[in-house]
Order: sequence, then C-alpha cells, then structure tokens
Amino acid sequence: MTSLMQGLPVSRGIAVGRAVIVRFAGLPAFRRAIDPSALEAEERRLRRAARQASEEFLQHSRDSVGEMGSELAAILEAHGLIAADETFLSAIVEHMSRERVNVEWALAAVARDFGERLEKADSAAMRERAADITDVAREVAAHLSPTGGRVMETDLPRGSILIADELSPVNAARLDPRRVRALALERGGKTSHASIIARSFGLPAVVGLAGLCDAISPERPIVVDGDRGTVEPTPSKNRLRQALLQVRDTREKARRLRNRTAGAAATRDGVRIVVRANLELPEEVAALERWHAEGVGLFRSEFLYLKAAPRTPGVEEQRAAYEDLLAAAAPHPVVIRTYDLGGEKGIAPAAGENPALGLRGLRYCLLHAALFDEQLAALCLASARGELKILLPMVTSLSELREARRRLLEVAARLRVTKIPALGVMIEVPSAALLADRLAEEADFFSIGTNDLAQYGLAVDRANPEVSTLYSPLHPAILRMMKFVVEAGAARSRAVAVCGEMASERAGIAALIALGIRELSVTPVAIPGVKETLARVDSGRAEGMLERALGCSEPEEVEKIFGAASEPESRRETAARVRVELPEDARK
Ligand code: PEP
Ligand code: MG
Repeated sequence: MTSLMQGLPVSRGIAVGRAVIVRFAGLPAFRRAIDPSALEAEERRLRRAARQASEEFLQHSRDSVGEMGSELAAILEAHGLIAADETFLSAIVEHMSRERVNVEWALAAVARDFGERLEKADSAAMRERAADITDVAREVAAHLSPTGGRVMETDLPRGSILIADELSPVNAARLDPRRVRALALERGGKTSHASIIARSFGLPAVVGLAGLCDAISPERPIVVDGDRGTVEPTPSKNRLRQALLQVRDTREKARRLRNRTAGAAATRDGVRIVVRANLELPEEVAALERWHAEGVGLFRSEFLYLKAAPRTPGVEEQRAAYEDLLAAAAPHPVVIRTYDLGGEKGIAPAAGENPALGLRGLRYCLLHAALFDEQLAALCLASARGELKILLPMVTSLSELREARRRLLEVAARLRVTKIPALGVMIEVPSAALLADRLAEEADFFSIGTNDLAQYGLAVDRANPEVSTLYSPLHPAILRMMKFVVEAGAARSRAVAVCGEMASERAGIAALIALGIRELSVTPVAIPGVKETLARVDSGRAEGMLERALGCSEPEEVEKIFGAASEPESRRETAARVRVELPEDARK
C-alpha cells in the first residue's frame, strides 16, 4: 500500500476523515470494502440483476420486431445476450473477490475494462460493441440499486473525505460541506470548478492523483494535506493525532488572521483596494459578513441552474436568490454573471469533441433566448432591491454584447422596469482582451476572468493535470493582454476588476496592483490572506517592476519578480526605508 501520494494542492488546509470512494466517469459507482463472507450474497445480487436486465432486453427485442424493424430488435437481443454472458459475469465475480469490493464497483470496473479493449479492436463491428457493454452495465446497475447507480443522492456520512476520479460542477454544487471534510481527485487542475468549489467551502483539496480510487481503502481514516498536495492512505495512529492537532492549529491561525484583517484593504503605501467575494450558491451569503467582503464581485449563477437540474429555476426562484444576495451585500454591489453553461459546466445536449470551444457562456444563452430572457427578467426585477450589475461570460465580439443589451432593454421594457442594471463584460478570451478598446465603448465595466484567459490564451486545459505546469496567468503573454484591457478601460473610465483565481495568489496580487487593478474578487475564505498580501505590496514599487515583467519570456521569471514584490520586507530593508523616509533632523 502506498504510504504517501503526491498531487497538486488546490485548496489549503489539512483534514482527517474517512474515505468515501466514488467513480463518476462511465458508470458512476461507490466503492465499498466487502468481507469474503459476503461474496456469495454479492454474487447472488449480481446474477439476479443481470437476469432481470437480460429478460427485459429480450422482451423489448421481441416487442420491437414489428414496430421498429429488425435492426433495433437485433441490438436489443445482443444486449440481452451480453447481460447473461458467463464470461462477463465471471469477470465481475472475479474482480469482486480479488479486490474485495462491492458488486457495483466491480461491474463498473469490468465494463470499463471490456469497453476499453473493444474500442481498440480492429474491426468496426467490434468497436461498436463497446457502447453495448456500457448500455448493458447501466441496465444491470439499475437493477442493483433503486437509484440506478447514480451517486451523491445517497448522503455522504459526516466526516467523509471524498475520493473520486473527477467531480463535475453539477456534482460539486451538490456537495454538502457539512458532511465532507476534504476532496482528493484523480483529475482536475487548480482552476477547475471542483477546486474552486472546494476553496469556496473551505475544504482542503488535492487533485491530479492518478490511480487514487484504487489505492485507497474505503472507510479508512486518511489524511489530506491541501498545503503540500498529499494524501496519506495509511496514516499511523500517531500521525492521525498529529494531523488533528494541525487541523486545530490551522483553524486558530485562520481565525486570528480573519480578525486582524476585518478592515478595508489597502496596499502598504495606502492605495485603497476593493475586495469582493466570488460566490457560487445563494446559501453562501453568510460568508459575505463572515469574511468581511465588500459585496459580490462574481456570482456564478449557472450553479443555480445546475443544482436545480433537470428542473429550470424560473423567474421567481432566481429573483428571490438575487434579492437575498443584494440584501446580504448592502450597501455594496452584487455582480451577477449570466449563466455560463456549456464547456466543462456540461449541459444536456452533446457538447461536441471540444466543449471548451463549443456552445458555452453567452453564446449558449443567445441561442436559447427563452432561458436567457427568463434570467434577464429575474435580474431586472431584483435590481430594484440594491446595486445589481450584470456580467456577461465568454464574450468574444462586440455584436454579442450588443445583442445581449438589446435583449436586456427589451425585457426591461416589457416588465416596465426603468432602473436598468449596468452591463459588464468578462474578459476571459483573447479576442475580447484584444478588442477591449472597442468593447469599452459599449460595456459599463470589465471583469477579467484570468482562469479562462490563461486557458484560452495559452491553449492549456485548466482542468488537465498533465499540462498543469504550463498553466500560469503570470505568463508574460497574459500580462500583456491584461495591460491592454486595463488601459482600454481607463481610457473610457470603465472599472476593471479581476475575478479569476490569480487575484488570490501572492505574486498574482502584486502583478495586478502593478497593472493598475484596484478591485479584486476572490473566494470568501481567501479574503483575509489577500488583504494581508496587499498590505505588503508597495504599489509604486510593483509598478516599477512591470516593465521588466512584460519583457520576460517565461512565467517563472514573472513569478520571481512579483513574488519579491509581495514578500514581507526584511528587518534591514525596513530600517533602510525608515531612514530614508525620516526627515534629516529626526535622524539625530
Ligand atoms: C474565470 O474564467 O476566470 C472566471 C472567473 O470564471 P470561471 O472560473 O467560472 O470560468
Ligand atoms: Mg471563466
């Protein structure tokens, strides 16, 4: 058994809890350890479920001969035969007894294994069988449990550490943070949405741990260290005790920092910086007061939609959520981003081969006008209750902004709403960054989404651990784009905020101050740390470093420059500065 697994740290803190293992990709399944004495009963469950699935397939096959032709009947008959196939069933039984796992997990593993082997076959007919295996396994799983193998509806026990292959935004949004202490995932990156949600919930998280689901024993106490990026599958009693003390210590330090940074943020040389909160769910509103946020800089409204799926949150449900946010944020503003669906925040219709470049964000909304109008209506109605601003995601051209504004005005007129919310543009695609001067003519404000700007600007998937070392918003090419955006905003007196994760990283903060950014929006728990870093950054000194940073070719060089700008100064430096600043006669 591995003693320590190293991954990518994505959410700080340390946690001790019992491992709950889930595989979401393919056929979702929980992994449970079973005693050898329970094997026979598990096998009986499997054979019963397989027989029922097989009989159903064969019955459907017979029924469909007349109606829909013989082709469908032949497919269904083949499914019925696979479900009863002894090679398939024996492989599942063998997996269960070898790994001592429950039947659901073994079924999913064998189906995946068979599917992968068939996909590599030379003949097209054999490759088609791969899809058949998945269909059959799904049906058998449905007969094994009433939820049909779906996970997350079964509540996780309190004190769990969720171990999974991946966590989609939908499943992440459905997590109950009171039950989960930490996350550890096989896939994902620093700015993938599971990581963002983990930070929002203040859950330590580590991603990019290949082979994790098979390396951990279910229900065992394990340690996840979100600072070092490690998972300890078999900690000793001593280590567990020590980790629990660390948990307490970290909590205490965080509490002290939160109290110390309750006031407004400013740089070391007294430049006032507005720090707002990024929220995903209306339940998080209490975080505004707790973490001393000056309003909401980004509300990712698509999580309302994803959480309600397959239902759609209508006008009234959305309006109530937006009004709650405004009430909690007052007297500060709330920036609500319209649905950023699609991409990795998958939605029902096939996302295509390349979802990040497909129907996503504003494009999706403009195409599904009824859904968009419903949201605009809720926003217009709620805006009577406070300072609400609308932010458009994934804008790539001026015409999209114009079309969104046209719809907003139309909806407002229909509702006789006269107080029209400000309409801003997220700058998160290179085309929008390089068109910022034109967009600034018509947008009321900008918010730079560095998570996607880095993804699209560097052609690096933000959720893929294999390329995570190439992902850096401090890349000089990204900084150059941001400089252009800040200047374009300033030329038209448009506020330019930053709401990507870069705004909560030490060197990133110094770089943003150097670029002239004066408004940051970050996950609430990060606010105290951001304020502390800001208090160390001298804006004049950071600005003086910008030219050199923009001339660099590598992100590491930029990181070094701005890392130095946000470091606490040494005693010697403080003494030298005080000497220079003191008037001549005071030195004597
Ligand atoms: C971003 O892209 O930087 C951003 C804030 O939006 P999201 O992370 O939701 O894509
Ligand atoms: Mg984005």
